[in-house]
Amino acid sequence: MDARVSIIPEPMAATDVQPVVDGVTAALIRKIVHVDMDAFYASVEQRDNPELRGKPVVVAWLGNRSVVCAASYEARRYGIRSAMPAVSAKRLCPDAIFVPPDFVRYKAVSSAVREIFQRHTDLVEPLSLDEAYLDVSENKLHLPTATRVAKMIREQIREELNLTASAGVAPNKFLAKIASDWKKPNGLFVIQPHEVQSFLLPLPVGRIPGVGQVTEKRMKAFGIATVGDLYSRELSALENQFGSYGLRLYQLARGIDNNPVMSNRVTKSISAEDTFAEDIPLAATEPQIRLLAEKVWKSSGGNARAAKTVVLKLKTKEFHSLTRSLTPPAPPASCEELASIALALRERIQLQPAQLFRLVGVGLSNFQTADDPASPLFLEEPRETSR
Ligand SMILES: [Mg+2]
Repeated sequence: MDARVSIIPEPMAATDVQPVVDGVTAALIRKIVHVDMDAFYASVEQRDNPELRGKPVVVAWLGNRSVVCAASYEARRYGIRSAMPAVSAKRLCPDAIFVPPDFVRYKAVSSAVREIFQRHTDLVEPLSLDEAYLDVSENKLHLPTATRVAKMIREQIREELNLTASAGVAPNKFLAKIASDWKKPNGLFVIQPHEVQSFLLPLPVGRIPGVGQVTEKRMKAFGIATVGDLYSRELSALENQFGSYGLRLYQLARGIDNNPVMSNRVTKSISAEDTFAEDIPLAATEPQIRLLAEKVWKSSGGNARAAKTVVLKLKTKEFHSLTRSLTPPAPPASCEELASIALALRERIQLQPAQLFRLVGVGLSNFQTADDPASPLFLEEPRETSR
């Protein structure tokens, strides 16, 4: 399976839009830093409990349907990865120490990290509790380069919080994210604007954020193994094969990503999705829906109760997306309840039983704010989109 969990913030306010000069977006060469804490939850546990240091630590609830929230680097040596079932982790390393997640503590540490970021820039876009994009084109300490900013942030995190972070520095978000992963853990990697093509073209397509194992395999079947292979394809060929994602791939192969860093956004939705290794009929999707519900529940870090709407997303073999959503009278109070709502939404997909699906996703959206009481029961109109 090819699992992705995403936390989608509110869309940016109109004032955040980049200035436009003669129809061209200005300041496209930005200085972006992507900071990613190393094995975050597991590192916090090891930091706070000396007995866990140097040992394989798995942050997960133990249970048949639980998934790994984080694994220490010692545990990763056994092949343990986050988002894998906890039972698989146990099988890979029976001696691993399982620690139940403590999101309240992780959130507090995350806020301390955010405070460090904000000494350098207010343009901070968190992706999750442990990673964020920073636009440091202008930075508060007036350091001359983004590399200097990234170095100082890493030092401050190490000295003040006793944790390590990896950072990537690049002219845009897409490249900065690849760069932060390049020297992980505890590394810094810089991609200068003139190095983009030579760095990018030899990379396997699986390095592109969003291209998981399954998509990578499908691309290989079309003769696309590296970013260079992707670069050599016509836009129309990519669009035929991958729908509107084709344009994004075409641009990424050229190192183009004009998405600005969007700060001050409130979480709007949390979702997780899996692309199946083989396309499957609707009736066979229940185990995945249950697993995804659990991932979403955990990613919400205890905040799931504040989400008013449950969303089920499916993508057909032919890349048509379908979404069904429900806003129940009260937000789901347990992971089981979230899973059963998602499964009930599945009943509202009315296609031929023979229809095959390539992807399923479960999400929570429409997060409640303090001054916004829960809305009464209503069923949203089914919305179908294709991409
Ligand atoms: Mg991380």
